[in-house]
Amino acid sequence: MSNQSLCRVCGGTVREFFDFGRQPLSDAFLPPGADLGEEFFYRLATGLCESCTMVQLMEEVPRERMFHQEYPYHSSGSAYMRGHFEELAKRLLTTELAGDDPFVVEVGCNDGVMIKALAEAGVRHLGVEPSGGVADLAAAKGIRVRKSFFEESTAREILAADGPADVIYAANTLCHIPYIGSVLSGVSALLAPTGVFVFEDPYLSDIVEQTSFDQIYDEHFFFFTVRSVQAMAAGHGLELVDVERLPVHGGEVRYTLAHAGARPPSPAVAELLAEEDARRLGELDTLRRFGENVLSIRDDLTALLRRLRAEGKRVVAYGATAKSATVTNLCGIGPDLVEFVCDTTPAKQGRLTPGTHIPVVPPEEFSRSYPDYALLFAWNHAAEIMAKEQAFTDSGGQWILYVPSVRTV
Ligand SMILES: [Zn+2]
Repeated sequence: MSNQSLCRVCGGTVREFFDFGRQPLSDAFLPPGADLGEEFFYRLATGLCESCTMVQLMEEVPRERMFHQEYPYHSSGSAYMRGHFEELAKRLLTTELAGDDPFVVEVGCNDGVMIKALAEAGVRHLGVEPSGGVADLAAAKGIRVRKSFFEESTAREILAADGPADVIYAANTLCHIPYIGSVLSGVSALLAPTGVFVFEDPYLSDIVEQTSFDQIYDEHFFFFTVRSVQAMAAGHGLELVDVERLPVHGGEVRYTLAHAGARPPSPAVAELLAEEDARRLGELDTLRRFGENVLSIRDDLTALLRRLRAEGKRVVAYGATAKSATVTNLCGIGPDLVEFVCDTTPAKQGRLTPGTHIPVVPPEEFSRSYPDYALLFAWNHAAEIMAKEQAFTDSGGQWILYVPSVRTV
């Protein structure tokens, strides 16, 4: 166990600021009869690079353990997110992809929620997706999919076969990739001289501001800021030319990179950078304070759940999200505190949550007999879920939220 590691972006020294302890893989839901002694655990801890300010995990989980045939997350699962991606597709069609015979590549296209809109508009496209199950779903929608990880060699093969890309896009993918240097070399090689690389991922500033610590789990290796993305881009002949804050997944930023000098950066880049500096986001003290806030939430949430159990209340959880693994394992929330967690994903139903072994059931179990309280793990979709489950609130039920602080509503 070490409290230092080497930065995966620049090779500088990464200093640890928070240790979440032993954690399972966030998507490793256990089938009935699984040998619980065989469960894979690793140490989840976060650090800050002293040189380039990139926040990253201290230890890496092998990628084949996370992104495989049974990867259960489907991007099309939320109506709100479908709208979000269709909006972007529309915008790209009238701007970056308005030229003659444009070509777009999506890295981590999942079930094709974004690229489908471009494919239907007749744009030459390629989705690259290593998780076989969701890649098959994309292919079934008529999307051209390459089932593989994306790295420099992949990018060069695509370039040879299809020519340069006008747009390379990645949503909630780039932050998953520890070998990010190879990805950016690939992007630099594949991108047309005037092309753009657009990616969106959780924003460190929002995570720190809201103490949304459950954004930190095995799949999220990096936590980007304007400053750290600028440093990362510069190392590959690329330049950050635009940023846009997005109100999705608890707060993200959409970054646009271009070849260095190809486009003037928008004023939004300097503005957001100034905000980050004012918040001292690249400083260890700020991140250590974030860690103290995480421990306060842990203590408040476990105290509330224990009190409700002592009072004989029925408590269930809602949304067996990947990020709930961090919450349940950090706080020690098991079936003794939460009866079950309901989730719409068939592949998770009938299984146990990783590490803490709470049964996952279909949503019908939730509505059959409403509990007194529902712990909302999918808090980033709170508005959509609360509207859908109005009958729960009407029955007298209350939601338990824990970001940015523990409360019932
Ligand atoms: Zn670094």
